[in-house]
Amino acid sequence: MTATASLKYDLHCHTTCSDGSLSPLELIQRAAEQGVDVLSITDHDTALAYQQLESTNQLPLKIIPGIEFSTVWRKINIHIVGLNIQPQSDALKIGVTHQHQARKERAERIAEKLTGYGFNDALDRTSKIAGNDNIGRPHFAQYLVEIGAVSNIKQAFKKFLGSGKPCDIKQLWADLPQTIEWILDAGGTPVLAHPAKYKLTRTKLLAFLDDFIAAGGQGMEVVSGKQIPSVTRDLASICRQKNLYASCGSDFHQPGQDWAELGQYSTFPADCEPVWDHW
Ligand code: AMP
Ligand code: MN
Ligand code: MN
Ligand code: MN
Repeated sequence: MTATASLKYDLHCHTTCSDGSLSPLELIQRAAEQGVDVLSITDHDTALAYQQLESTNQLPLKIIPGIEFSTVWRKINIHIVGLNIQPQSDALKIGVTHQHQARKERAERIAEKLTGYGFNDALDRTSKIAGNDNIGRPHFAQYLVEIGAVSNIKQAFKKFLGSGKPCDIKQLWADLPQTIEWILDAGGTPVLAHPAKYKLTRTKLLAFLDDFIAAGGQGMEVVSGKQIPSVTRDLASICRQKNLYASCGSDFHQPGQDWAELGQYSTFPADCEPVWDHW
């Protein structure tokens, strides 16, 4: 692909196929309205959006097929975006099938934990909220808000679902090398999603990147939504130091979240090599 500085890329966002609120077509429409030229839909552990889009031939922007895989590294939940993948490839299908099973089992375990708090209808009601069996923690969070167990989504993560909390079950995900292998075998580029979100120390982030690169990882998001300039500078410098491709995206989930609107993110650092230059 020829990359020109004037194209707007958004290489990270979600639809109703995972925990987003817009259907793939609604999302694409909104992205086009927001001035996005090149979009990757990166739903959690599924490429279902691409299947849903198969019958649509005229799209208002260029699509780069993608996915956001969940993995675990040193007991930390890490997300790896696979960009420019072939959604129909065997490798991707194998990966998605594994993660789908893991997600289903995890939902059962989360529901079991919630039963211990006296919330007996968690799985049933959360499945209805998700609308399919691709259940994520945000769907459980919504359930907990609906039954009045917590006052808002943030509290649901703080009390039950967030990192280190009782319903944070992550051991079922594929490990880092496996996740990266699926992406590479599907013809894609493995990219570390939102590096600043894990709250890792710099030393730990560098240690992660060493393992990531050793396993075949090739890029990192230097810009994720609206982030402060010092974070971008830091990530850009790490990206160059580790010789990784740089990516950017909004991590859009739903309208109304100002910090994660389609096509809106902090300025892409000029001194990093854009991941799209390599496609
Ligand atoms: P899952 O893929 O089921 O593990 O859910 C992870 C998703 O939960 C993330 O992609 C976010 O959309 C959402 N999430 C994670 N932490 C929080 C939080 N503290 N508050 C609100 N949403 C969150
Ligand atoms: Mn999400
Ligand atoms: Mn993520
Ligand atoms: Mn995401």
